Amino acid sequence: MAVVRRTARDIRSDSRLDVLHVVLSSSEITRNEIAQVTGLSAATVATVVGELLAVGILVETKVSLGLVGRPTATLAMNPAGGSVVGIDVAETYVRAFLFDTALNQVGFVEIERDEHLLAPDLMVDMIGEALDRLLEQEQVDRDQVRGVGVSLPGLVHSSAGPSVLVPHWAWRTVDLEHLRERVALPLVIDNPLKAIATAELWLGRGRFCSNLVTVNLGTGVGAAILLEARIARGATNSAGEWGHSLLVLDGRPCRCGRAGCVEAYVGVPGIQQTLREIDPEHALLDIDLQRDFIGAMAAAAEADEPDPAVSETIARTSYFLGAALADLVAIINPEAVTLTGWTAWALGEHLLPAVRQHVREQAPGLSGSDLELAMSTVRGNSVATGVATLALERYLADEGLITTRTPLAL
Ligand SMILES: [Zn+2]
Repeated sequence: MAVVRRTARDIRSDSRLDVLHVVLSSSEITRNEIAQVTGLSAATVATVVGELLAVGILVETKVSLGLVGRPTATLAMNPAGGSVVGIDVAETYVRAFLFDTALNQVGFVEIERDEHLLAPDLMVDMIGEALDRLLEQEQVDRDQVRGVGVSLPGLVHSSAGPSVLVPHWAWRTVDLEHLRERVALPLVIDNPLKAIATAELWLGRGRFCSNLVTVNLGTGVGAAILLEARIARGATNSAGEWGHSLLVLDGRPCRCGRAGCVEAYVGVPGIQQTLREIDPEHALLDIDLQRDFIGAMAAAAEADEPDPAVSETIARTSYFLGAALADLVAIINPEAVTLTGWTAWALGEHLLPAVRQHVREQAPGLSGSDLELAMSTVRGNSVATGVATLALERYLADEGLITTRTPLAL
């Protein structure tokens, strides 16, 4: 195996990235604290912080006079460093979020999608429109935007170049160059699982764990994987498609064409199917929209009068999720597994106790015994936050300030 030599420049960039991670995740921090957390020497921290202050990425927020010694300055990301945009493209909506360069969310627009209109050109227009509307609404000039990140479901890489592969979507032919022209700003494109992994790495438990799995629960399900403190992308950027791994041999049909996938049990249509199997006449099955269905499930689970069919559906969903997670734990052996996504925000607390127990019982050896299994600490839309973080990372790399540790997809 070839040994990659790290140059002094790489080491300097790595130190800057370490410092940026720590400052971003702690909102305010002193140079001494940075040195403690990163393990870098005080001299290195002083140099790196000086460089980042000089280019306006960091600011000194306040200076407190100690009883002894020199005054101590608190450092933070400079929110006045410009804006970054994160755009989450999903099956039923396009959502664009504006962040300052400290990754505080400062604005948001949503464009509803007609899921029957899947023409690739239309999608490009919708993404462009979401961006234009967001900047207009927040009165941000385009030259203030440091980067735009777009999360596209199913974005994969092959020898033929990047493409978007989503079952039932007409997206295979999406013209990513056309998207680049329409956005007309520095652009990063990645898929939602890699965006979530980035958000966890910079802002969530990924700061403390080298090996972390974050499971995204919604219509579909997937796993954002950090392995040895790096985002696992795989050969074609499709690592983490755990929703289409097998839970039940010859089980329920999945929309990918296979039978028995994890998603067919713990994706929202899978949860609806579980309720249908328990009580085919249940009133919640008449709810048209998936989001409303999950909201009604959560309300029923929290009601004073328990609904036995809902309780049983939650119990079976926990069992499915626990069994499927035990497989992931067997393969990845993470320190923690976290849940994110709109199903998780609505139902996660109801699922977690039983899921923990099933994982502990089913994961091999002791891999489940010390495992932390909890809700993600990255709140809000972690896909948009993550892809905006990638845009910020690309900007900092283009400015020569850091070397990105994980190759960017596009
Ligand atoms: Zn499938």
